[in-house]
Amino acid sequence: MVKRFGYQEIRFPVLEHTQLFKRSIGEVTDIVEKEMYSFDDRNGDNLSLRPEGTAGCVRAADQHGLLYNQQQRLWYQGPMFRHERPQKGRYRQFHQFGVEAFGMPGPDIDVEVLQVAVMLWQELDLSDYLTLELNNIGSAVDRMNFGLALTEYLQTKEDQLDDDARNRIHTNPMRVLDSKNPDVQAALVDVPSLEDFVNEESKQHYAELQDLLNSANIGFRENPKLVRGLDYYNNCVFEWTTDTLGAQGAVCGGGRYDGLVAQLGGRDVLACGFEIGVERLVLMLDSLEKVPQDAMQPIDVYVTCIGQNVTEQTLDLAQAIRESQPQLGVISHCGGGKFNSQLKRAFNSGAKIAVILERDDGESILESAKIRRLDDSAETASHKITEIPQKVAEFLKNSTS
Ligand code: ATP
Ligand code: MG
Repeated sequence: MVKRFGYQEIRFPVLEHTQLFKRSIGEVTDIVEKEMYSFDDRNGDNLSLRPEGTAGCVRAADQHGLLYNQQQRLWYQGPMFRHERPQKGRYRQFHQFGVEAFGMPGPDIDVEVLQVAVMLWQELDLSDYLTLELNNIGSAVDRMNFGLALTEYLQTKEDQLDDDARNRIHTNPMRVLDSKNPDVQAALVDVPSLEDFVNEESKQHYAELQDLLNSANIGFRENPKLVRGLDYYNNCVFEWTTDTLGAQGAVCGGGRYDGLVAQLGGRDVLACGFEIGVERLVLMLDSLEKVPQDAMQPIDVYVTCIGQNVTEQTLDLAQAIRESQPQLGVISHCGGGKFNSQLKRAFNSGAKIAVILERDDGESILESAKIRRLDDSAETASHKITEIPQKVAEFLKNSTS
């Protein structure tokens, strides 16, 4: 689907120098402080399994010269790794599908990126269960000024903070705002607001983005508390959230990251993108009973094999059915056993019919096999082996019509 928007696939490794993630995601973030799998390799280089896709994508795209003086629309998917407490929707290895667009200032491209997600939700029939949350977090300088004001404010409240919050006053005061401790939250009643530090140009961008979203009919909700846990973002950031998954409600997160390419050693290349947590999407589809058809190929035919030396013919026949009837799901019984136990497996597979190959001792190659309906009728018919694929399809057709 993303190809229809002109996005090209990019691949990059699951291992990178730890420094890449420290410089992009930020030293004082949950991901870098607590969640990375890092180790020294044989040369003594410190490497980490990638905890997210954007940093590696930028590194690879820049190294391959894709970001030099040009626009790029890239997508990727693959496993990511975070050392977190495993629970529903939160795993140590999970998968992200991401898109990144380079070389465009927005807000048009911001909307297009969001349209990719919107279209995906539509295709998966999930639009009704997802909310787009938006915020403007300004530039790095705005946030630095806000951070200074915040530090000043927090210093006046030091005695009301817990250890965690107190430690962050000078390292990452914005993180104190996310504290789950009610006492800390109580100390934040008249805390300065980021909005007051955001520069005019950024506000203009954000206003235009909202206008474009309105005219594109993309609904959103402003959430001034949305900051995202990664340092490279600036201006507009967003998350798609759902209340169908309990605490792990963020399905997709993204925004602009105009400074990242330059920060990692490339040129000044403006950028935006998002990452979708694939497992959370699948959980949503499951909980809403909306598993896409192609993910659930039903089994139509179960081929049983009774007697000696019939294995080869059974495998051949099952394959012949698959090749001649590509719409059908076919299981070929493996592992031997008595007819009744094979038939039981056939029932359990959900197949509508069984094809029965039965060879008596001493009998040479089988000329015919039976087709048996796996319902109460147990209707059975015998056919030449070569005709079985065709007959199976007819049999199934008659049973559904
Ligand atoms: P959360 O708030 O749930 O911790 P996050 O802000 O850390 O999420 P991002 O870094 O924005 O997550 O990653 C983008 C998406 O990847 C998330 O919206 C989520 O769907 C998914 N994701 C993040 N961490 C995990 C995980 N440990 N297991 C499964 N999916 C995850
Ligand atoms: Mg997280």
